[in-house]
Amino acid sequence: MKIVIIGSGLAGLSAGYRLCKSDEVIVFEKDPDIGGMSASYSLERSGKKYFIEKYYHHIFRSDSELLALIKELGLEKQMMWLKGKTAYFVDGKNYPMNTPIEILHFSPLSVPDLVKLGLLVLRIKFIKDTTPYDRIKAKEWILGTAGKSVYENFFAPLMKSKFGDNAENVSAAWLIGRVKIRSDRGAEGEKLGYMRGGFNSLIEALAGEITANGGEIRTNREVTEIVITENTVQGVVVDGDFIACDAVISTAEPAVLDALTKGKLGDLHTTLKSIRYQGTACALIGLDRSLMKDGNYWLNIKADVPFGAVIEHTNFMPFEDYGENLVYVTSYFQDEKSPLWMQKEEEIIDSYLKGLERMFPEFSRKDVRWTRLYRRIDTAPVYEQGYLEKVLPFAAGPSGLYLAGMFSSSNYPERSMNGSVKAGFESAESLMKEKEVRSQ
Ligand SMILES: Cc1cc2nc3c(=O)[nH]c(=O)nc-3n(C[C@H](O)[C@H](O)[C@H](O)COP(=O)(O)OP(=O)(O)OC[C@H]3O[C@@H](n4cnc5c(N)ncnc54)[C@H](O)[C@@H]3O)c2cc1C
Repeated sequence: MKIVIIGSGLAGLSAGYRLCKSDEVIVFEKDPDIGGMSASYSLERSGKKYFIEKYYHHIFRSDSELLALIKELGLEKQMMWLKGKTAYFVDGKNYPMNTPIEILHFSPLSVPDLVKLGLLVLRIKFIKDTTPYDRIKAKEWILGTAGKSVYENFFAPLMKSKFGDNAENVSAAWLIGRVKIRSDRGAEGEKLGYMRGGFNSLIEALAGEITANGGEIRTNREVTEIVITENTVQGVVVDGDFIACDAVISTAEPAVLDALTKGKLGDLHTTLKSIRYQGTACALIGLDRSLMKDGNYWLNIKADVPFGAVIEHTNFMPFEDYGENLVYVTSYFQDEKSPLWMQKEEEIIDSYLKGLERMFPEFSRKDVRWTRLYRRIDTAPVYEQGYLEKVLPFAAGPSGLYLAGMFSSSNYPERSMNGSVKAGFESAESLMKEKEVRSQ
């Protein structure tokens, strides 16, 4: 079969990897680089080249499909499990948040509120099925279980920095999923996974497998239509050319899929229109010296600055791998009217640096070697109340059309690299099953 895959993120490459040995695979990617949201910059320091993700990434021990894939590709030796120190910056002060004991010292909450927070986390640990919580708003659930102060002083700033004006609509299912994964730590704190050399190694290995098996990956090629007649996929249009194929796996976001299919998806059209995505404007800064001298990797922020988190990659991975200090400064944004989408790159970088100057008195712009900004409008579904009903199927309806990506069930109630790898595999499996049925 000739299979077109739209998108070279982890979902598209994983699907291509599964299918390339049995079928003819062509991946079309609209960007110049492969990898989608897991793509990396290729940078150089003192003549030494290194890769670093455009968006900060780490993984968890529970990411079983991703870890199995890394092993299958012979990249297991690159996996490192390290402590990434986390803190919460509230009104000018850093509160370490690594161990239960440290969390108990979070003084913006009173002792009775800390007990309520602890009980809420404990309760979450015992929730096996998040489905019933999809219909409840996280805000209402926290207010009802842990009270106003825990909501306002602990969760609300974190949710606001993640979902902006949509924070109050996010479901309790999302919150529970998030807390579950982040509270899966012993008394010593959690260990996070990272591939030495960057997740670029995984992207390159998948792409290498596809091309070694006769597949093609074409970058700077945007699919503008999925041609469907009589409820059957005929091919795609790329740069005005029609390319016939037997099946299409689309990993493009719902609004794009809706435009590509030109109203041929029946009832799914309404769902595609109703799924909201948000964007991320993430700066990566190369510095002469460390920003967070207390060794923090991850800092969540409640302060009047235009970003929600600061992530110092070289407080997590060894500095020697890079030869310079690498710091991400990042913010989610809700739509294309946001200044983080409208403003020029220099303006955003300047506003981020001003924010760092306010937060870190020792920080000086003289220490900045270089900056990069990566922003995309389609970086995560907003997991609003009732979102579960909108999760897209792997087989989209018309014969030969398959879907995999952040909108798939494996990425509910939070998207991740693991979820997209799993989605890629599941869409490939659906396709193989249909192929088997067709051949009988
Ligand atoms: C700031 C940030 C931090 C993150 N941190 C983590 C983390 O620590 N751990 C973790 O597990 N996950 C993390 N993620 C999530 C993870 O990056 C994603 O879940 C995953 O990479 C999504 O892969 P995907 O293939 O589903 O989608 P994408 O990577 O978005 O791939 C879709 C691809 O399709 C292409 N495309 C779209 N339309 C067309 C078209 N018409 N024609 C051709 N190509 C098209 C796009 O350009 C893109 O390359 C993070 C994400 C962000 C934004």
